[in-house]
Amino acid sequence: YDLRDEDLKDLNELGQGNGGSVKKVEHVPTHTIMAKKIVLIDAKPSVRKQILRELQIMHDCHSGYIISFYGAFLSDPNICICMEFMDKGSLDGIYKRIGPIDIEVVASVAHAVLEGLTYLYDVHRIIHRDIKPSNILCNSKGQIKICDFGVSGELINSIADTFVGTSTYMSPERIQGAQYTVKSDVWSLGISLIELALGRFPFSESASDDDSDLSEFEGTLSPSRPVPLETKKDKSKEGKRNRRKSKGVSLQGGGMTMSILELLQHIVNEPAPKLTPESRFPKMAEDFVNSCLLKDPDQRRTPKDLLNHEWIAHAQTTNFDLEAWASTF
Ligand code: ATP
Ligand code: MG
Repeated sequence: YDLRDEDLKDLNELGQGNGGSVKKVEHVPTHTIMAKKIVLIDAKPSVRKQILRELQIMHDCHSGYIISFYGAFLSDPNICICMEFMDKGSLDGIYKRIGPIDIEVVASVAHAVLEGLTYLYDVHRIIHRDIKPSNILCNSKGQIKICDFGVSGELINSIADTFVGTSTYMSPERIQGAQYTVKSDVWSLGISLIELALGRFPFSESASDDDSDLSEFEGTLSPSRPVPLETKKDKSKEGKRNRRKSKGVSLQGGGMTMSILELLQHIVNEPAPKLTPESRFPKMAEDFVNSCLLKDPDQRRTPKDLLNHEWIAHAQTTNFDLEAWASTF
């Protein structure tokens, strides 16, 4: 594909993230439906060209577990990245629509993400760096693929500052300043799997506390929607009132910054979340998530190693019908 903006017809908007927006488009000359991600980059022309060069690696990424890439181009002041359109959208949207995801499906998600991560690392030495439900996509064929991986160092640099809100899937060692490794992606996978299975972000408040409070705190942390923490000292009514006051405070505001810091502190200092206490999940699933969420990266296994975990092996032998599942919503 020789992609030019004037050949792309906008169909509808698929979603917005911190870095930009994604539209469903048609490449008119070839009638190909694509997802076009528009990223606003405040950088010099030389840096933008560098980013474009780095993105070309995506042309060499061929895996059934990775979104395919059609091309990228500059469209001042944006960079447009055209990729495979996934008609069922991202897993965060799916669970928000249909509720907690069946654990059999979650097992298939774990398998797909591990395959994708292993491919990226073994073949291209790429670390994903942004595993979370909104970067795991599904289509009506029942395929599960990952997108938005960190191929371009320059792109990461250029938009890093605006990404405060996404740091909640970040591993304890990353929060403490250690280098990114494939094992940091494994942590993020563990958090994502709990989120899908419970139908809520694992660090958000528990339903048992006060139902009326729940809706406003549910979901992922984003600059517009802080997720204050359930901490022991914070459990009083007073704490609650204070947190409510800070809701909606802008990113620059003190209240918002505090709740992000609290969350990061919580990840570093408190025990990792688990698939229990719900205790309705297979032991294998619990065990898998626990091994993703070992706080010491030296003890945590790599994606390739985790492909041999019994839960993943089991998921492959049972061959759950994801196409049928995807046809239910
Ligand atoms: P963040 O900016 O914090 O990473 P995000 O991943 O939700 O959040 P984007 O990557 O801009 O932000 O994506 C926005 C939304 O667009 C996603 O949540 C997803 O639902 C949708 N989307 C992205 N890529 C595709 C695609 N290839 N096919 C279909 N939908 C997509
Ligand atoms: Mg994304």
